[in-house]
This record gives sequence, C-alpha cells and structure tokens, in this order.
Amino acid sequence: MQSDEPSGGSRVDPWLGHYAQRAGGMVASEVRALFAVASRPEIVSLAGGMPNVSALPMEAVAAMMADLVTERGPVALQYGSAQGDPSLRETICTVMAAEGIDAHPDDVVVTVGSQQALDLVSRVFLDPGDTVVTEGPTYVTALGTFAAYQARAVHVDMDERGVLPEALAESFARLERAGRRAKLLYTVPTFQNPAGVTLATERRLEVLEVCRRAGVLVLEDNPYGLLHLEGEPMRALRADAPADVVYLGSFSKTLAPGLRVGWALAPSAVRDKLVLAAESAMLSHSAFAQLAVDRYLRTQPWEEQLKQFREMYRERRDAMLGALEEHMPAGVSWTRPGGGFFVWLTLPEGLDSKTMLPRAVQNRVAYVPGTGFYADGTGQQAMRLSYCYPPPERIAQGVRTLAGVIRGELQL
Ligand code: PMP
Repeated sequence: MQSDEPSGGSRVDPWLGHYAQRAGGMVASEVRALFAVASRPEIVSLAGGMPNVSALPMEAVAAMMADLVTERGPVALQYGSAQGDPSLRETICTVMAAEGIDAHPDDVVVTVGSQQALDLVSRVFLDPGDTVVTEGPTYVTALGTFAAYQARAVHVDMDERGVLPEALAESFARLERAGRRAKLLYTVPTFQNPAGVTLATERRLEVLEVCRRAGVLVLEDNPYGLLHLEGEPMRALRADAPADVVYLGSFSKTLAPGLRVGWALAPSAVRDKLVLAAESAMLSHSAFAQLAVDRYLRTQPWEEQLKQFREMYRERRDAMLGALEEHMPAGVSWTRPGGGFFVWLTLPEGLDSKTMLPRAVQNRVAYVPGTGFYADGTGQQAMRLSYCYPPPERIAQGVRTLAGVIRGELQL
C-alpha cells in the first residue's frame, strides 16, 4: 500500500481490531515521553537515568574489540547458545561473589540487559490477572513489563530503610483474603530506582522470611549494587535464599548499556524455563557483545574503572544533595542515596509534580513526575531526580532553578 504518511502517522490505525489484548497494556511511559523535551541542550535534565559512558577508556575498548574480531571472529560472529557464553557466565559468578552470592555458572542465563530478564521472568510466571507485589514507587519499565503480561502491580510502602516487612506481610494477607495470591515480589533492594533507598541489612532476612511464608518468589533486580558510594557492597537477598530468589544483574551501569548484557541467576528448574523462553525470544544473545564484556572484565582494569565510576557519581550525588540542602524551601524532603543514580523528592502538601513540570521546563530544568513510578496513579507529590549524567555544576544549577520553581508554586 502506497502512502505519503509515515507509517507512524496520525491516521486511524487500520489494524486496531487485530491487536492481541495484551497490546492494550503496552503504553509509552511518562519517562519516555519526557526524554524528547529533556534532551534539548538548554535544559538541565535531572530526568534521565543514563550512565556516563564517556568516562570509559574508548581507545582501549576499541583496541580490545579489534583484537576480539581478529583472534576469535569465528566464535564472536557466530550464533551461540540461548543460555549464554560459558566463559562469561563464569565471570558473572565472580562479579556476584562481591555481594555474597555463591553461584554456579550453570544457573546463570545471559540476557539482553536485565530488562530482557524481567521480560523472560514475567513470560514464565505471569498469567493475565496475576498479581506482582512491588515497592511503591518502583522501576517504571518493570511496571510496563508486568502490564504487557496483563498482570496487576500492588505497591508496598517504603521508608528510608527500604520496604516495610510488616506492610509486605499485610499486603500478602490482604491479597489472600481477596482471593488473590501474589506470585512475585519485585524488588530493587539496593539503591532503588527511583527512590534511591536501600533495604537495611536487618530487614533483609525478614523480607525473605515473609515471602517464604507466603510462598512468593522474590525477583531481586540489582543493577546498581556495585555503584555503592560508601563502604562495601550490600549483601544481596539471593545470597541468603538461593532457592527462593531470582536475581537479575546487568553490566549497563558498571560497564556500558549499549552492549546490552545482563543476566538472571535462578534456581535450576526456573533457569531451564528461562533458557527455553530466551530461545523463543531471541534464539541466542549477541556472541560479540558477550565476548566483549568477558574480555573486558578479564583483560582490562575493570575494578579501577568501577572506582572511577563511583568517584564520578559520588561527586555528582554530593553536588545534588548539597544544592538541595542549600536551596530547597521548607516543607520539601528528599532521600539520601548511598549509591546508584537517584534521589526521590517530596513536595510540600498541595503541590503536584506533574502540573508543575511545564513551568520547570520553561525555566530549563526537567525531572520525572512521581506518578510514572506507580501503577495506581499515586505519587503526585513526588518526583525523581537523577544525578548520573550532568556535570556537578549543572546539577547544582538545575536544583537551584527547581527550588525557584517550587517557591513560585508555593506563592500561587
Ligand atoms: N532495572 C532497573 C531497576 C533499572 O534501573 C534498569 C535500567 N534503568 C534496568 C532494570 C534495565 O537495565 P538494562 O536492561 O540496561 O540492564
């Protein structure tokens, strides 16, 4: 069919009646819609969560990739197994050991970022109408994935030490009384996206116990664990409950998101299902990307690189927290992350972060309104601020502008 309009044009979609029901749950997130605006150069974007890959030693990476093709081209450019390259799976086990995890490479499935692992776990476990319990707020694209499988997300409150175990137990009990059962607890326990909050050590075993008693599988999503800005890495939930946790990891924040290498570590029966799901989703992962990550970790000073990332993000986090302290009016509160990329800011009573956004953008600062991180439309009074991408002085400038916008709203 010839048409002058681009295929994504504004005409009525002639295939409207053909879509599967689940496509109804696939809608663009508020975060995505915001990126076009926030990426304009005059705007200080505290919205996006992009890691700062320009800090990587590009020449060393290029040389390593050229060597990879010269030395291992026939493997790097060939199909591989759906489970992933065995050498990389070994390397991944050594990475997870830093968080107290004792894993066997056989139980690792390499995925296209941890986002694909989220999709595969959902595909394997969720039927339409199933319930996933998750922190409130939670990672926006996980909500998108659960919605795409027609599952319902129920939120549990957090405080500054993470999800409340009693509230979690109460949520499971409430669901059971209503004749529904939670299938998964989806949690980002360490340096949470979007709240910047970490589940306290003393709560971790309690959360695992609450899930074990309720027969709920824990989906631990941990892309930020090695970006701790103080002290040592947190002990993963998976370290203390190998049979009850599917752990998701990623090299997106600790190396480069463009390589799209993440993984799932799962109990062996679950792993088998994930491998079958991966096979139908993608046949095999990019062998080139997997071998590149494995080679980088085995031949380059990755630990040094991680230290540099931590220093860079620490400086940015401190710039944001310092500026918030200096400029925000009374009644505004925020979290103080020990790692990762995000601060969660709560506005004074009566203000709405979504209605305030156009004024913020007019003043050249962008953030993500809190409602995008809830499945139930709450979060109006909150917003996510990220400190990962702009340099420290831009962050400080953005926060100062934002404080001015909030003051303006308070005077309206
Ligand atoms: N989970 C969380 C909590 C994230 O913040 C992200 C990236 N923003 C992902 C998963 C997906 O990361 P990737 O697919 O790049 O590994």
